[in-house]
Amino acid sequence: MIHKGGCHCGAVRFEVEAPEDLEVTECNCSICSKSGYLHLIVPKSKFRLLSGEDKLETYTFDTHEARHLFCRVCGIKSFYIPRSHPDGYSVNVRCLDGSTIRSVTTEQFDGRNWEANIGKLKPLEEP
Ligand SMILES: [Zn+2]
Repeated sequence: MIHKGGCHCGAVRFEVEAPEDLEVTECNCSICSKSGYLHLIVPKSKFRLLSGEDKLETYTFDTHEARHLFCRVCGIKSFYIPRSHPDGYSVNVRCLDGSTIRSVTTEQFDGRNWEANIGKLKPLEEP
């Protein structure tokens, strides 16, 4: 299944290959809890940026491993490169268009205690 999504203003558009029944992760870390981000983590091969590369700004903090990409026009972070899976992308399920999603199952991740819990996240599936 190909899901499409993007930022609020429409400059950033992408498509991601994932099941119609999505398993997503909600994280309680400092940045995810403020933005309400819902993670769908995929290998880079399952993600394609369609437009807006020139509108993306990068924000980093703390360990500076995660690359938080946001649209500089509307400020929305629709996908980014997560610290947990630097070889993949985390897509914000709240930024998917929605018509291709049948169900969403949410798992909690205790990102406030990242080091203690990172082993509980699933590795990327092989492309
Ligand atoms: Zn935008």
